[in-house]
Amino acid sequence: MIANPKPAGVDPFRILITDDDAADRMHIKRALKQTELPYDCVDATSLEEAFAACARSTFECAIIDYRLAGDDGLDGVTILHQRFPNMFIVMATGQGDAVVATEAMKRGASDYIAKQHITGKSLRRIIENAAQKEAMRRQLVQQREELERFADVLVHDLKSPITSIRGFATIINQAVRSGTSDPKKIAGYCERVVSLGERMVALIDTLHEYTKSDSHVDFEPVDLNRTMEDALSNLDQIINKRGARVSHDRLPIVVGHGSLLTQLLQNLIGNGIKYSEADPPTVHISADPEAANGWRIGVRDNGIGIPREFQQQIFEPFKRLHDTSKYEGTGLGLATCKRIVERHGGRIWCESAVGEGTIFYVSFPDQPATATTTVQDSVDAGVNA
Ligand code: ADP
Repeated sequence: MIANPKPAGVDPFRILITDDDAADRMHIKRALKQTELPYDCVDATSLEEAFAACARSTFECAIIDYRLAGDDGLDGVTILHQRFPNMFIVMATGQGDAVVATEAMKRGASDYIAKQHITGKSLRRIIENAAQKEAMRRQLVQQREELERFADVLVHDLKSPITSIRGFATIINQAVRSGTSDPKKIAGYCERVVSLGERMVALIDTLHEYTKSDSHVDFEPVDLNRTMEDALSNLDQIINKRGARVSHDRLPIVVGHGSLLTQLLQNLIGNGIKYSEADPPTVHISADPEAANGWRIGVRDNGIGIPREFQQQIFEPFKRLHDTSKYEGTGLGLATCKRIVERHGGRIWCESAVGEGTIFYVSFPDQPATATTTVQDSVDAGVNA
C-alpha cells in the first residue's frame, strides 16, 4: 500500500486501482502522489484481485481499467457498483472511447477518464468530487436517521397529550350530558385540558426553533451584550419565579445571527436555572478570548450537575437525564444550541460535577468584529430576579 502523508485530523481517502499493466498502475500512482491529497492506495491486476481487496477493506474510490486481460472492465463496474453502491467508481478508458465511457456511467461508474489524461490535477479533481459525494451521502444518512428518531419521539410526545385531552373531553362530555356533574371536578378536568394544550404548543414551538436553527440565515456583527438583554428579558418569568441571580462579564461582538444567538443564551441560562435546587440559583456568563483569536463563552450554574457519562449525549435531540415529571422540558434545548453553535462554526461542550454545578462552554472561531471589545472591564450586571 502506498500513501501520501496524512495531515493531522484528515482521514486518508482509500483508493483501489485495478489495471493489469504495471506501467499504467505506476503512472496512476505517480499522478496520485502529485495530488498532494492524503490517500491510501491498493493495487489489483484483475477483477478477482479487486473483489478480494474489497472483501478485506473498504474503498471510497476505485479506478478500473477498461481493457483488463481476460476480464471485462465494464463487468467490473457493474459488479462493484452492485456490491458497493457508495463506492465512487472511475473507468479508465482509451483515448476517444466515448461509447465505453457512456456504457460505464450507465452501469454505475461515477466518472471516467482517458488514461492519457491521468495527471495529478485530473486525479485531484476526481478525488475531490468523490470526497464531496461521500460527505453528502453521509450527511443524508445522518439526516434520515435524525428524522426517523424525530418522528418516533414526536409521535409519542404529541400523541400522549392528545390521548389525555381526548380522555378528559370524554369524561367532561359524559358528566355534562348525564347532568350528574360536580362543577369543581369538571373545572379540574378543564384545567388539565388547558395545561396539556399548553404543553403541546410549547413542544411545537421548541420544534420550530430547532428546525429554524438549520435554515439559511445571514450573519452580521452581533453585540452579545444586547443579545444577553433579550435573552434575560425572555427569561423574566423563570428568573422571577426562582429568584435567580444572573450575572455576566462584558461580552464581545461576534459575527453571527442575533436571534439564533439569543436562543442559544436563553436555552443555556434557562437550563442553568431550571436544573438547580440551590437557593438562589445563580448563573454567570463569562467571555474569554481564545488562543486562536476567537471567543469562549461560559455559562456556569450552581445546579444539580450532569454525570460525566452523559456529558456528550445531552446534545442529542430528546435526550433527557433527570426526572421528567419534576423538570419540564422537551429534550430539544441543547440539541438546538448545538445546531446554532455549529452554524456559527463553533463548538459546544460542558464540564460538570454532580451536586456542584455545570459550566457550558461555547467557542466561536476567529471573527474580525470581535476585535472591537475586550473583557478587561468585566461587569457584574447582577440581573436579579
Ligand atoms: P430539556 O428540555 O429536557 O431541558 P435540553 O436539551 O435543554 O432538554 O437538555 C437535555 C437534558 O440535559 C436535560 O433534560 C437535563 O437532564 C440535562 N441538562 C441540561 N442542562 C443542564 C444543566 N444546566 N444542569 C443539569 N442538567 C442539565
